[in-house]
Amino acid sequence: MYKIMTPGPTNVSQAVMDARSRWFPNPDVDISFCEEYRQVCLKLAGLMHTENEVFIMDGEGILGLEAACASLTEPGDRVLVIDNGIYGKGFADFVSMYGGNPVLYTTDYRRPVATYELARFLEKDHDFKYATVVHCDTPSGVLNNISEICPLLKSHGILTVVDSVSAMFGAEFRMDDWQIDLACGGSQKALSAPPGLTFVAVSRDALSAMENRHIPIASFYCNILAFRNYYRDKWFPYTMPASDIYGLGEAVDIVMADKDRTKRHAHIAGALRNAVTSAGLSLYLEDGFSPTVTVINVPEGLKADDIIENMKENYGILISGSFDYLSGKVLRIGHMGSCANPKDVAETLYALDKTLCSLGFRCKCDMQKAFENGLIYS
Ligand SMILES: *Cc1c(COP(=O)(O)O)cnc(C)c1O
Repeated sequence: MYKIMTPGPTNVSQAVMDARSRWFPNPDVDISFCEEYRQVCLKLAGLMHTENEVFIMDGEGILGLEAACASLTEPGDRVLVIDNGIYGKGFADFVSMYGGNPVLYTTDYRRPVATYELARFLEKDHDFKYATVVHCDTPSGVLNNISEICPLLKSHGILTVVDSVSAMFGAEFRMDDWQIDLACGGSQKALSAPPGLTFVAVSRDALSAMENRHIPIASFYCNILAFRNYYRDKWFPYTMPASDIYGLGEAVDIVMADKDRTKRHAHIAGALRNAVTSAGLSLYLEDGFSPTVTVINVPEGLKADDIIENMKENYGILISGSFDYLSGKVLRIGHMGSCANPKDVAETLYALDKTLCSLGFRCKCDMQKAFENGLIYS
């Protein structure tokens, strides 16, 4: 076993593990399961600050993104794909797969999307059925300003789909205030349950866009409407993974009880960035740092895999590299959910400091101390 300090999956608490091993009723036949499922959905809606319906779907986080596109896209629909990161761009694939016509709005991958520039673009072209945007694009750690972007899109009559899988519950998330039509979350990030579940919150506008389609949704598993009347009819489109949902419910209760979590995430992330840069390392981003993940450039002459392997073998702590164009170029420390605590981050920095030193890079300060001081003085 080792400590997981990656941007998902995160460490899972014993309480969540225990909840997953409880006896469970037949989720198809026993109506009491439908009640339990609904309670978890209602709590998730509370955490997302929305009156909208939430549906938990049986699949990893990607299922929610695909389900959003499958359920909203009709052949020929123009969809604005806001692209300042790998996940951002990735939405174009789902849009095309379901016959839509993705229009990429690509901006600097090292910064959040600038709302005023997007506003200028939309003045010229706003003929889109919906737009997709990622809250925290995890491979780079860039955090987009959803609170400005979504109201702007809505003011042009564009539905908004937000992937907040790696941000929500670590970063602030207010679905209704921010006028989000479809929000996607996952079990294995800041909620700190194991991977395997996705949940979507869906506005009335998004539901009516799905209901008023001319052509049926070209999927069964990705059809959000299949869940629409689950509570009224006490019926799910397929057998629900009861144990996974018990685990998720426990994780949701832990997050709900943790009142200052967003403040703590921000505080820890700030002190971590400060420690890393004081040590002479550099951050990948120029601006828009997510409170859930920190992305550090691999120092000249060192290999990401060596650093990661060394930390895991010698210190029992797993951090991660990245992928696509960032493969081998950066290290990522996840500090979301269960990992967003001073002790684990301090230990991670201690291990990183010692590992870098053993590989020939001398930190300009003691990173663990710098982090701990940063927590006190900020
Ligand atoms: C983790 C994550 C997902 C879920 O998919 P993975 O298979 O874990 O990559 C979706 N979107 C974002 C931004 C994520 O960080």
